[in-house]
Amino acid sequence: MNTIIVGGGITGLSAAWFLLKKNPKAKITLLEKENRLGGWIRTCNEGGFLFEKGPRTFPFSRNPHLLELIQDLKLELISSEPAAAKRFILHKGHLRTPGSFLPTLIPYLIRELFIRPSTSDDESIYDFAARRFSPKIAETFFDPLTLGIYSGDIRKLSIRACFPALYKWEREKGSVVRGLFSSPKNKSKAKGLFTVKSGMETLIHELEKKLPIDIVLNCSVEKFSEHEVIAGGKTYHADRVISALPPQYSNRSIWVVNLAYAGDVLVKKGYGYLVPTQEKESLLGVIFDSAIFPQQNRTSETRLTAMVRPEEKEPLKAALNALERHLGINAQPVHTSTFLAKNAIPQFEVGCTYTDGVSVDACIQKAAKLISPR
Ligand SMILES: Cc1cc2nc3c(=O)[nH]c(=O)nc-3n(C[C@H](O)[C@H](O)[C@H](O)COP(=O)(O)OP(=O)(O)OC[C@H]3O[C@@H](n4cnc5c(N)ncnc54)[C@H](O)[C@@H]3O)c2cc1C
Repeated sequence: MNTIIVGGGITGLSAAWFLLKKNPKAKITLLEKENRLGGWIRTCNEGGFLFEKGPRTFPFSRNPHLLELIQDLKLELISSEPAAAKRFILHKGHLRTPGSFLPTLIPYLIRELFIRPSTSDDESIYDFAARRFSPKIAETFFDPLTLGIYSGDIRKLSIRACFPALYKWEREKGSVVRGLFSSPKNKSKAKGLFTVKSGMETLIHELEKKLPIDIVLNCSVEKFSEHEVIAGGKTYHADRVISALPPQYSNRSIWVVNLAYAGDVLVKKGYGYLVPTQEKESLLGVIFDSAIFPQQNRTSETRLTAMVRPEEKEPLKAALNALERHLGINAQPVHTSTFLAKNAIPQFEVGCTYTDGVSVDACIQKAAKLISPR
């Protein structure tokens, strides 16, 4: 059986992995547009510091497929520091933990138990949160959460496609709060987050090394059907063509700004912080990489990643300015790099029926489904 896979991101590579596991004699050709594999998975060792430009943290509880793949490939896994469980939200210019808002939230949480489920098929994240909780809760919590995952607008994005669990809890349990408390507790012993010690791109290199397949780089597929692919003026024939291209929606870009400082300059330890739109910042959030996975530190450096809105003309300057105001960091970084993840994040707007998710784990799960017989 001769198979062509279109796209060499984690979806395409794990589809090849699963196909060969099932049928070791399968003949596979993978066609990739760029001159490298991995798609958004990209690790750099810059100035001796390890930086991820794309995905980096994975909760043990929500990434069973990624965990299995990492274990199959015998890669060294590391767990996050317990302090990384602490997350912050920027509120009126200061970092606060979500728990610090609890006293003011309790009346809204109780009231939510009695609000009837909506009868409409879908609505925006803002409409959902404002209806079930309050407009203020929508702006303070749902907005930064949505920016952190989708970098998108809560007034446009779909609750059904972006947060399917909340949508389901309203319909099946009658309330988000009830759904949250009645959902089965995670039985897995490992808590927290994990990553690959040498960086996520090792996963890609290892797949590339271990997969006995033909890889064609710099090969942009123009058209494909069930048995035929046209790319670069050439026609490829196969018994089966598998598309491992990301979902085709309008996408948002994001600036990824990596910063390294000599020594420990972080006063607050945790995962990082998110910035609600109402704070009127060009920053979307900051990840405290060196505090989450100190095992990846070279010495006692501080490694941070700032996510900045794509409209910002000077992302590095904006990040440095925000870090000084929010975290009191006025030391000069010893290394910085800026990367525009162009059209990286699909925007599932109201009415969208896509429910596969946007995480690496969701991609691997999708790959397993792609290779099963139709
Ligand atoms: C900044 C950032 C941070 C993220 N953080 C996390 C995180 O912490 N945790 C998490 O789970 N997820 C995270 N994600 C999401 C995760 O990276 C993606 O869901 C995942 O990498 C998508 O993999 P993919 O293979 O489906 O698509 P892609 O990575 O987009 O790969 C698709 C591949 O197909 C190729 N291609 C496209 N068109 C063609 C064509 N016409 N012909 C041939 N090849 C083509 C592309 O060049 C690319 O290599 C993050 C994403 C970004 C951008």
